[in-house]
Amino acid sequence: MSKSFFKRKVIKAQSLEINGLKIDVEFKKIKKLYLKILNKNCQIKITAPINFPLVDIFKFVNEKEDWLKKSLAKIQKHHQQNQIVFQENQPIKIFNKVFIIKYLNQSIRPKIHFNPDIPNGEIIIDSKNSISIDEQRKLLTKFLRAQLMNYIDSILPEIEAKTKIKAQKIFIKKMQSRYGSCNVLEKRIWMSEKLIHYPKEFIKYVLIHEFTHFFVANHSKKFYQMLEKFMPNFREVMRPNID
Ligand SMILES: [Zn+2]
Repeated sequence: MSKSFFKRKVIKAQSLEINGLKIDVEFKKIKKLYLKILNKNCQIKITAPINFPLVDIFKFVNEKEDWLKKSLAKIQKHHQQNQIVFQENQPIKIFNKVFIIKYLNQSIRPKIHFNPDIPNGEIIIDSKNSISIDEQRKLLTKFLRAQLMNYIDSILPEIEAKTKIKAQKIFIKKMQSRYGSCNVLEKRIWMSEKLIHYPKEFIKYVLIHEFTHFFVANHSKKFYQMLEKFMPNFREVMRPNID
């Protein structure tokens, strides 16, 4: 299916609410009706031919209602998985293993206690004085980024040996929809901070994927051939099952 119709000029736009679903409709010079959900913000978007009757759009949405609600719930669940709730006993995933948030009020300087070797263990936020959710988030983000960086540092020598190339610097960054990116000329790599919640093999895959871009900039057949040379099982780990 060609995506070009999404790029066509919007003649008219309208927001509708149908059965509790907010739907943005754009009318364009096209022949058919198209429906999509934007992953990033769960926005439901319909692209319709100019003069397409509203009553038929209502009918169309009615028919798709079950599918739409199921798809939205799935996307929202995925979003929530990476959203940390700061409350006693709330789960938090580190390298795809679940830990439980606990609070302690002993340390004068707020800090985090964590033992990754205890399965179903705890991540303890320790502060003598009460600290705001914002401060907790900052503390935990810093801690999680350090965990992620430790892991990246631990697998880096092996990847550099295999690819026979060195990365100038690796950064961890908040990213909206991507897991990694790179600057080929400067040999820099950016890894998404949300990777801390994913399986280690997947993080390794993302890193090797970015390293492979140092040789092949696009996602051509040549790129995947090279990637396979560096990570023969990449197809098994590139789509993590994080449920
Ligand atoms: Zn890529």
